[in-house]
Amino acid sequence: MAPDTTTTSVIDVSALGILVTTLQRRGFTVIGPTVRDGAIVLAELTSADELPFGTGVRLDGGRYRLRARDDRAAFGHAAGPQSWKTYLHPARERLWSAPRDGSAAPEPSGTPRSMVSTGASTEPETYPASGMSTEQRPRYAFLGVRPCDLRAIGILDRVLAGGAHPDAAYQTRRDGILVIAVECTEPGETCFCTSMGAGPGADDGFDLALTELIDDDGGHHFTVRIGTEADADLLRDLPHECADAATRERSAQAVADAANNMGRTMETAGLRELMVRNRNSTHWDDVASRCLTCGNCTMVCPTCFCTTTEDVTDLTGEHAERWRRWDSCFDLDFSYIHGGSVRTSTASRYRQWATHKLSTWHDQFGSSGCVGCGRCIAWCPVGIDLTAEVAALRAAEEGSP
Ligand code: SF4
Ligand code: SF4
Repeated sequence: MAPDTTTTSVIDVSALGILVTTLQRRGFTVIGPTVRDGAIVLAELTSADELPFGTGVRLDGGRYRLRARDDRAAFGHAAGPQSWKTYLHPARERLWSAPRDGSAAPEPSGTPRSMVSTGASTEPETYPASGMSTEQRPRYAFLGVRPCDLRAIGILDRVLAGGAHPDAAYQTRRDGILVIAVECTEPGETCFCTSMGAGPGADDGFDLALTELIDDDGGHHFTVRIGTEADADLLRDLPHECADAATRERSAQAVADAANNMGRTMETAGLRELMVRNRNSTHWDDVASRCLTCGNCTMVCPTCFCTTTEDVTDLTGEHAERWRRWDSCFDLDFSYIHGGSVRTSTASRYRQWATHKLSTWHDQFGSSGCVGCGRCIAWCPVGIDLTAEVAALRAAEEGSP
């Protein structure tokens, strides 16, 4: 039977606790937002009580601060420093390990010549990492995925699993993940998902989509839409009722209001061409005079996926491993080929990042590489703002100051 994705239900906030325990009973590791170290991070939740009830954030270029809310909203906050790629495409991952045991097992592609000649045998990693078998790997339920991050997961799916050579590690982790989206009703000061067509409402890519509603008298509910038939089953485990027309209208209005209250905007008409036309703009030097090439913007970006690999051995030489870790196009070594880097200047590296995100990503992957989450603005230590830099390029073309 096809899922009924047209019906909206409503649950009380107390049902979040039942949702988390139901997911755990079904074998899921529940990942969701929680307050830790002065930020709202994504971490394993042992209960719904760990959600950031009553905590919001205040954002600006280079600024992220928690604030106490006037209500008990659990999802009244914009994107934090992490995105879901932390779980889908981890920052460090062992690809394989090789003891020097003299056996002559065939090496997987990518095995370094030095290891072939020493007679070492390689053991391809079982995913996600560290000797965990496929059966042992956690089955994640992501709770509280923002629509911009839903779009970002869709982009990672295309980039890492959609081509001719899918990334087996990514695909293994991605399979079986349950996604519970929460639509945005209160965007942050650095958000611009509306400009990028990535929010604040959730259209697809979710199993359940919630919208948080808080009444004037303190009543606290969520409207729920079902994305798949499997999750109609999940909803049946929660105390719920059919949402009346007024509740559905209120839920839709909350998302529409959010769309009109984005902290930032980015004009996207002709953006691909604008970026290409401005390859030699002097504005890149202006950005470079501020940019520290720290790479923070790429680390926090939910769609940046670049990695490098490193081979390591222990001190005895009896054991070697190959690790993959996130890399950044702001790193000088990232474009090191034939004895030198092809992007030696800061200006060229920022230009590469921004142009790839907003222009050439379309040619490569069929969409923008930016979902407007605003993380790169808030977590840039010097507050460089992608929306402002694009506006400056436009203004320079149009001859405005
Ligand atoms: S734009 Fe900001 S976050 Fe990105 S590399 Fe430059 S200083 Fe770091
Ligand atoms: S470029 Fe910035 S705003 Fe766009 S998706 Fe990446 S972190 Fe978010």
